[in-house]
Amino acid sequence: MRLLTYSSFGRKTHVVFKKRKSHPRRGSNGYPTEVVVNMLKSALRQGQQIILNVLEANPQGLTLQELRQAAGVGPHEQGQFGRRVRELRAWYNLPCIKKNGKYVYILKGEKPNNDGFDPEPISPTQAARIRNRDGYRCQSCGKTPGEDGVKLHIDHKIPRSWGGSREDSNLWTLCSECNEGKKNLFASYDAEQMKQLMKYQSVHKRIAELLHMYQGQWVDSDLIEFVANAVDWQQDWQKRLRELRYPVIGLDIESRRAKRGTRFISQYKLNNWVVLPNDPSAASRHYEQERAKANRSKKP
Ligand SMILES: [Zn+2]
Repeated sequence: MRLLTYSSFGRKTHVVFKKRKSHPRRGSNGYPTEVVVNMLKSALRQGQQIILNVLEANPQGLTLQELRQAAGVGPHEQGQFGRRVRELRAWYNLPCIKKNGKYVYILKGEKPNNDGFDPEPISPTQAARIRNRDGYRCQSCGKTPGEDGVKLHIDHKIPRSWGGSREDSNLWTLCSECNEGKKNLFASYDAEQMKQLMKYQSVHKRIAELLHMYQGQWVDSDLIEFVANAVDWQQDWQKRLRELRYPVIGLDIESRRAKRGTRFISQYKLNNWVVLPNDPSAASRHYEQERAKANRSKKP
């Protein structure tokens, strides 16, 4: 595949999309949408404009590594680079699609304006039922309106845009702070991609495919934990992740501790890719039994 790099198509500074219709829509803040979009775009970092140009020149899609090389960014900036690419999703449709076993980023144009209008709000009856079920307590930090003065919200555990349902089982109570934190974290992930992940019934496959999407980049344990628990509750998702390293499965996953604000978090990075066995649970159980047998026979 021929890569079009930034320098190979001149010093083009703006990505030009189809012209918008002449009557400007208005965003929730009263500005014509166009004005807001332009304000936001002028805030794009220089590096991001280059990324957009490279993506536009490669409509077939690029892996993150190809994109990084074409944009002239060194491997040491890889982690930061992935984040910059994902931040573009605030304004652009930029799905990451699996093509021939690799994940490629494809630029599909600008995002239509979304004023945050929820076409299917949770009914007050359902909200009251969930708050009551959760004991009027934030299910993430445990704070309550009575003791801590927090405001409670009803949140979809798996966002609707990721394919989460409207059933009670997919709803929980969160305080404003936890709700905002979750929204901000989740907004940087590609909804279509996450929807695909949620379709894997096997927790091993969900974790593996998530790391595969971000191959070579550090992924926060928060997201891995969420994806592991999204379909069925996992007692020990870290163990499931360790099982992916067993020779019968064979993924090379590194881990590290990283500082995020004032706290330390765990991060994981996938360095290779292999096709997973059909039933990774059975494969890892079998491996453990064989390993135990071998250990017993070693003892005198
Ligand atoms: Zn909370």
